[in-house]
Amino acid sequence: MKNILLFLLSFIASDTAFAQHFQTASIRKHIAFLASDDLEGRGTASLGEVRAANYIADYFKTLGLKPVGTSGYFQPFEVTFAIDGKAHAMTGRNVVAFLDNAAAKTIVIGAHYDHLGKGFQGSSLSPDSKNQIHNGADDNASGTTGVMELARYLTENNVTEKHNYLFIAFSGEELGLIGSKHFTEKPTLPLTSVSSMINMDMIGRLTDEKGIIVSGWGTSPVWGKLIPPLARKQNLKYTVDSSGVGASDHTSFYLKNIPVVQFFTGGHGDYHKISDDADKINYEGEVRILNLIADLLMNLDKEPEPEFATAANPHSGATTSNFKVTLGVMPDYSYTGKGLKIDGVSKARPAEKAGIVAGDIITRLGGEEIGTIYDYMEILGKHEKGQVVEAEFLRGSEVKKVKVTF
Ligand SMILES: [Zn+2]
Repeated sequence: MKNILLFLLSFIASDTAFAQHFQTASIRKHIAFLASDDLEGRGTASLGEVRAANYIADYFKTLGLKPVGTSGYFQPFEVTFAIDGKAHAMTGRNVVAFLDNAAAKTIVIGAHYDHLGKGFQGSSLSPDSKNQIHNGADDNASGTTGVMELARYLTENNVTEKHNYLFIAFSGEELGLIGSKHFTEKPTLPLTSVSSMINMDMIGRLTDEKGIIVSGWGTSPVWGKLIPPLARKQNLKYTVDSSGVGASDHTSFYLKNIPVVQFFTGGHGDYHKISDDADKINYEGEVRILNLIADLLMNLDKEPEPEFATAANPHSGATTSNFKVTLGVMPDYSYTGKGLKIDGVSKARPAEKAGIVAGDIITRLGGEEIGTIYDYMEILGKHEKGQVVEAEFLRGSEVKKVKVTF
C-alpha cells in the first residue's frame, strides 16, 4: 500500500514539476520486445542477438542517424567462448550510430544489449539454467532502451548542441566487455574526439530506498559538479563509486583515458536469473533516470571539455573472476554502512545453504571483519573450495552465526 502511494505521488510530482522528455509507453515497448522470449535471451552471436541488433539499427535509421559501424550500423567482431567445455568461434556485433552536429567533440552514449541467451554460455545464477531463456529485462534491455530513448530525444529536441553524439549498443558484454573492447581498439571514429562516455547498465529497478549508483565519479571533476543538483531535481537518491573500472563497458573507455560515468539501479534477487523479466521493471523510475541523463547532457554542452582524472581504484584486480570461491550473494552496492549487505542469494550456493537471506548484513567471515565490500573480496581470495568458515551477520538487530561451506 505504502509503495503504491509513493508511486502515485512521485508520478504526479514528476509530471507537473518538470518537462517530460520520456514516456513510460515507449520504454515499455522497447523493453517488451528486447526482453521477449522471441529473442531467446540475446546471447552474443545468437539469432536473438541479430534480431535485437536489427531492431536497434532500424530505430536508429528511423531517427535519421548516420550508420558508423563497419558494415552499415553494425560493427561485427570475433568472439570465442566455451559451451560445455568446447570452444566456439563466433561473430557478435555492436550497433553504432552517429548524430552529427558538425562539432569537434563527441559524447558516447552506450549500453550493452546482449544477455545470457539460453544459459549455455555460463554465468547464469539460476539452478538448471541450461536451455532456459534469460530475458534480461533489467540487464540490460533497460539500458539499451535508454540509448534508444536518448537518441530520439537528442534528435528531436530542436537544439543543435555543441557536441556530436555516438550511440553504441554493445554486444559481448556478458562474456567480458568484448564488444566495447573491440570498439575502443578499432574505433570507427577517432577516440581523440571523444570527450566523455555515458554508460547505462541495469537502470530498470529503481527503488526510493536505494536510488541510483553512479560509477566513474572520480574519472572527472565534472560529474561531482553537475550530477548532484540534477539528482535533487529528479528527487533521486544516489550513491557514488569513484572507480572508472567496473563490471561494464564504461571500463573500456576509461582505460583509454576518457572520462566515464555509469548509471545502475543496483542488484536484486533476479540478477542473472531467468526471472529478470519485463513485468518487474520500474518504468516511471527509468523515466526519471533518463530525465537526469538528458539534463546532464544539456549541462555538459555548456561546460568546457571535461578533464580526465585517474580514479582511485581500491579494488583493482579483485574482480569476481579471480576467486576460487564465492558465497553466491548479490551485494547491495548502495549500502554504505559497515559490513556486506545482501540484496539476493543464489539457490543452492553456500550462503543460501547456510541460511543467509536477502537483507542480512555479513559483518565477519572466516574470522575476519568485513568493513566494506572490498574486505569481503579480499577474504574470498584467501579461501578454497570445500573449506568451512564461520560467518557472523546481522538480521535486523539480531546477531547470528552460521557455518558456511565454500
Ligand atoms: Zn549488464
